[in-house]
Amino acid sequence: MKVVKFGGSSLADSEQFRKVASIVKADPDRRFVVASAPGKRFSSDVKVTDMLYRCYEMVRNHEDITEYYQQICERYNSIIRDLGLNFDITGELEYIRNAIQHHSGRDFAASRGEYLNSLILAKFLGFDFIDAESVVFFHENGLYDDEKTDEEMRKELKKHEYAVIPGFYGVMPNGTIKTFSRGGSDITGSIVARAADAELYENWTDVSGCLMADPRIVKDPLPIKTITYRELRELSYMGASVLHEDAIFPVRYAGIPINIRNTNEPDAPGTMIVASTNEYDSEHVITGIAGRKGFSVINVEKDMMNSEIGFGRKILDVLEDNDISFEHLPSGVDTMSVVVATQYLDARRERVLTSINKRVRPDSVVIEDGLALLAVVGRGMVKAKGTAARVFVALSDAGINIRMIDQGSSELNIIVGVEEHDLEKALNAIYLEFVK
Ligand code: ADP
Ligand code: ASP
Ligand code: MG
Repeated sequence: MKVVKFGGSSLADSEQFRKVASIVKADPDRRFVVASAPGKRFSSDVKVTDMLYRCYEMVRNHEDITEYYQQICERYNSIIRDLGLNFDITGELEYIRNAIQHHSGRDFAASRGEYLNSLILAKFLGFDFIDAESVVFFHENGLYDDEKTDEEMRKELKKHEYAVIPGFYGVMPNGTIKTFSRGGSDITGSIVARAADAELYENWTDVSGCLMADPRIVKDPLPIKTITYRELRELSYMGASVLHEDAIFPVRYAGIPINIRNTNEPDAPGTMIVASTNEYDSEHVITGIAGRKGFSVINVEKDMMNSEIGFGRKILDVLEDNDISFEHLPSGVDTMSVVVATQYLDARRERVLTSINKRVRPDSVVIEDGLALLAVVGRGMVKAKGTAARVFVALSDAGINIRMIDQGSSELNIIVGVEEHDLEKALNAIYLEFVK
C-alpha cells in the first residue's frame, strides 16, 4: 500500500481536487491520503494558511475579522460548489470563526486550513476522515511525540480501508492544537507512511520532482532521478523547500522510499528518495545545490588560542547558555568563527558579546551579518577529484567573494559562505559549471 500526500497547490481549487481524485483512484494501493490547506491558485494569490494566521493577528489587534474571514469561507464553499458536493460546512466555518475570535490560539487557527480541506477531500473521494488531533501527539515541551504517535496512528489506521488525514497539526497533552513548522504536512505524510508500513510515500506537489536547484533562482533546473535521504536532508536544510527537512526521519528509519511527484504532470516519474544508492550512479558529479540567507559570523581572535585548552568549549557554552545553536565552526590557529542564524542571535547580541569577552578574554570579538550559505551536495563527489576547485573557480569567475568554506567530513557536501546579495548569482554560476 501507498501513502500519498498532496500539497497546497495540488488542492487549491476544484480543478486541482479533480486531478487529485483521479490520481488517487488510479491505484487502489493509494489508501491513505494526507492533505494540505488550499495553496495559491496563481502567483499573487494568498494561501489559506496565511489568511488564517492573518485572522489570528487581527483578533490580537482587536480588529473585526468577519469580512476577511468571509474570503476563507468562499474558498472552501467554491470548491464544494464546483465539485457538486452535497456537503454543508457552514456550521464548521461558524464554529471556527467563533473560536478564532475567542482567542483559540495561533496554531489552532492555522490548523483549520488542513482540517477543512481534508473534510472536503474525504467526502469527494468517499474515504473516511481521521482527524490528526486523535493520532498525532506532541509533548508538554512542544516537541513531537514520536512514540505515542506511532502507536496510536497504527491502531487507528488498522480500522480504515481508505482514509484522508489532515497534515500539519496534532495535539498537546492538555488538548490544545499544535502545528509543526511551515510546510509540516510533509512530516505528517511521513509519519502516516511509517505507521501504515507503506511500501512507498508519494509526495505530490507542483514540480516534477526535486530539481537540481531552486526553480525560482535557476532557470529550468534538471530534475533529480534518484537522491539519498542524506543528500536531500542537506539540500532541504539549506533551502530546497520542496520537502520539509524533518519529513525524512520517520520514513528513513523504516526504509520507506519517498517519491516526489507532480500533480499537474502525473505521468512524470518524479524523484525517488532512497536509503542507499550503491545501485544508482548519479548522472552528474553533484546531485543538487541550495542556499539560504540570514546568517551571521561571530569572529573571535586571540593570540596563542591554539594552546588554550577549552577555548572552543567556553565559546560554545556561551551560545548554549543563550539558547543559540551553531551551524559551522571554521577555525584558524588564533581565530575561531561561529556561524549562527541571525534570527536566533538578534535578541541576545549584546549578551553574547559580553559573555564571550568575560569567558575567554579575546583580543577581539566581532559579529558580521549578511552571510548566505550555499550547499553543493552530491554522493558522486567522493569519487570525483577536484569538485571543490571547480566550485571555487566558478565563483571567482563570476566575481563572487567567498567568505567561508566548510567541507563535510563525509564528502557529501561542500558549504560555501557568500554575501547575501551574491547568493542567486553564486547558485547560477555553480549550476552552470556542473550542468552543461
Ligand atoms: P507543496 O505545497 O506541494 O508542499 P511547496 O511549495 O512546499 O509545495 O514545495 C514545492 C516548491 O518548492 C516548488 O514549487 C519550488 O518553487 C520550490 N523549490 C525550492 N527548491 C526546489 C528544488 N530544489 N526542487 C524543486 N522545487 C524546489
Ligand atoms: N499549510 C501549511 C503551510 O502552508 C502546511 C503545509 O502546507 O505543509 O505551511
Ligand atoms: Mg510543502
